[in-house]
Amino acid sequence: MRDAFIPGVNIGLVGHVDHGKTTLVSALTGTWTDRHSEEIKRGISIRLGYADTTFYKCEKCEGAGAYTSQAECPVCGGRAVPFRTVSFVDAPGHETLMATMLSGSALMDGAMLVIAANESCPQPQTKEHLMALELIGIKKIVIVQNKIDVVTQAEALEHYKQIKRFIKGTIAENAPIIPVSAQRGINVGALIQTLDEVIPEPARDPEIDPVLLIARSFDINKPGGSWRDVKGGVIGGSLVRGVLREGDEIEIRPGRQVQVENRMKWEPITTKITSINAGKVKVTEAAPGGLLGIATKLDPALTKSDALAGQVAGRIGELPPVWDRLKFDVTLMDRVVGADSEQVIEPLKHKEPLMLSVGTAVTVGVVVNARKNQMEVQLKRAVCAEVGSRIAISRQVGGRWRLIGMGVLVE
Ligand code: GDP
Ligand code: MG
Repeated sequence: MRDAFIPGVNIGLVGHVDHGKTTLVSALTGTWTDRHSEEIKRGISIRLGYADTTFYKCEKCEGAGAYTSQAECPVCGGRAVPFRTVSFVDAPGHETLMATMLSGSALMDGAMLVIAANESCPQPQTKEHLMALELIGIKKIVIVQNKIDVVTQAEALEHYKQIKRFIKGTIAENAPIIPVSAQRGINVGALIQTLDEVIPEPARDPEIDPVLLIARSFDINKPGGSWRDVKGGVIGGSLVRGVLREGDEIEIRPGRQVQVENRMKWEPITTKITSINAGKVKVTEAAPGGLLGIATKLDPALTKSDALAGQVAGRIGELPPVWDRLKFDVTLMDRVVGADSEQVIEPLKHKEPLMLSVGTAVTVGVVVNARKNQMEVQLKRAVCAEVGSRIAISRQVGGRWRLIGMGVLVE
């Protein structure tokens, strides 16, 4: 059994702007009641833009009311026992760009689709985000019908029926729908219970080569500090498989761009892991599920301001290949979703610019070879990815990148 305080899964929050994703994270993590927030704010979990929380269950009570994110039962006031910790991946405020959602979704073991009950369903990004989950293949979905405090029971029921019609025939067709008020903390226990059932922890396999998708990277040194106290660069992300340990020698790919005889080329970076934080817990070994903050011996100049976001870390010599040109089988959707008018999606054209998301990497490229079902795209920035990886394809429509389809990387 894993320590109940070490995050074991990443749960994404997706949905239309203002439907209550960030408020829901607060309700689930109890950050608004947190007296030690200064300490936590400095912790890696917040720096990552993620929040994690431990779920507790009352020793005595039964049913949904027994589930809470506090050590005290909200029903009887008795002792609640910690049973698991999860990380939430929420798009940062005002962030409606699909790029962020897509790179975050590479880390999601499951997702909550938040839908406000006081607006008709679906709103444009509700549709677009569900489509993204479908394309990326995130099947473990819980639908959260939020803001039930501002609608009547009859309106909530009518809205529930709209949700049911909307998800029919999609990947979320059988997803549970949990009515809550994130703001008032209503029915949060039932949501915790459902998340626990729907999104289990991934398996741990120490034998296979680890693959860590890097989502963030930073320089944790304060300006003006003494060189003696300089701390190495920190990378944040999640393992998609395998295990990493303190002291491991690792490689990061594509690495850094260097000039070799008038040509730019990517050179892998190698370093050593000096410590690992899983959520708020310092660990000596980390497995898939949950966000990790990994301190290394890297020059912090290499990791500052998310410079390594989108790259991949693992054992030296065991990482997937690096590509500066991606070839992939393509499936395009019929129509653009998320736009005001849903235009028909035309086939991909030669020389057309595209935005591709592979793992946590988001990169722009130009189509250099367009056949009916297979594309080749020359990338601005190389990516490290396995053959068979899913690629989310976006194109510029009306001045915005819109998700238009899915690719599968071929050799
Ligand atoms: P996000 O854009 O999806 O992250 O939405 P926010 O969490 O920022 O919430 C948008 C607005 O809705 C804020 O003013 C919240 O206070 C409000 N809000 C969120 N949840 C609820 C709720 O359950 N009930 C009510 N009445 N308002 C809510
Ligand atoms: Mg938000």
